[in-house]
Amino acid sequence: MDFLQTPDIQILLGVAVALVATVAGAFYIYASKKPKGCLDPENFKDFKLVKRVQLSHNVAKFRFELATPTSVLGLPIGQHISCRGKDNQGEDVIKPYTPTTLDSDVGYFELVIKMYPQGRMSHHFREMRVGDYLAVKGPKGRFRYQPGQVRAFGMLAGGSGITPMFQVARAILENPKDKTKVHLIYANVTFEDILLKEELDGLSTNYPDRFKVFFVLNQPPEIWDGGVGFVSKEMIQTYCPAPAPDIQILRCGPPPMNKAMANHLESLGYAPEMQFQF
Ligand SMILES: Cc1cc2nc3c(=O)[nH]c(=O)nc-3n(C[C@H](O)[C@H](O)[C@H](O)COP(=O)(O)OP(=O)(O)OC[C@H]3O[C@@H](n4cnc5c(N)ncnc54)[C@H](O)[C@@H]3O)c2cc1C
Repeated sequence: MDFLQTPDIQILLGVAVALVATVAGAFYIYASKKPKGCLDPENFKDFKLVKRVQLSHNVAKFRFELATPTSVLGLPIGQHISCRGKDNQGEDVIKPYTPTTLDSDVGYFELVIKMYPQGRMSHHFREMRVGDYLAVKGPKGRFRYQPGQVRAFGMLAGGSGITPMFQVARAILENPKDKTKVHLIYANVTFEDILLKEELDGLSTNYPDRFKVFFVLNQPPEIWDGGVGFVSKEMIQTYCPAPAPDIQILRCGPPPMNKAMANHLESLGYAPEMQFQF
């Protein structure tokens, strides 16, 4: 191996080592910057609808296939996607939606969609059939979640505003290392309007020390042990963590509810940094 000792060979080896290190470094930077998963934040990508299950007269669960059976969507916790479709006039419409699945669900993602009679994007989802494609762009959103970021979350959700809460709650509870507590108040008009009821009850059963849900209905059935009317200040005091620097209250509902909740929270002493609206 004496030839390795010659100055020319040593220079050549040095150059080769430097070249390999540069290429490996560049690849590492490229790989770590490349978004993980199937989403593109700049361009809409089409995903095929492979299953549609009607959950009630105006709610359906849509399952979309990812590139391969082992692909993940790659949506950070607390973020949403933009979906593009056509309204009943044939005009483009873009609306935000939060999948109810996480990256632990591989090969697909699911959306639970409430379809309003006059809703523009609702029309697109109502018309979608298995085999059709949905244009999706993302991730989007300002909310970031790191385990241990707060001691407890209070969540105030109305109607389809449950989906971001469900996503965050699932991510917290399914991580055994995450000790964050979750207190959800979920408001609807009737019992039939409650989305993801079975899944939420499942979380209460499986994680009784970390997850509590209090349902509120405007028009409750005859036998009902939840709240009645609109979400009140007293309900927030009873079922959400008290104002403190290490808690946060998340809100997502129809605009009038969000406004009412912001007023309640302010008068109960929750500082702006203790609140987040999706
Ligand atoms: C971060 C985020 C995540 C979301 N995730 C989901 C989700 O996973 N699933 C889902 O179904 N929706 C979700 N939404 C709501 C969704 O973006 C649309 O607002 C909803 O689908 C209605 O859009 P549209 O175009 O059909 O109705 P629009 O054309 O905007 O509204 C038409 C009419 O529909 C009715 N309407 C619309 N929205 C509401 C409402 N919230 N409450 C009561 N009446 C209403 C009203 O009568 C309104 O006049 C999310 C919203 C946000 C901000």
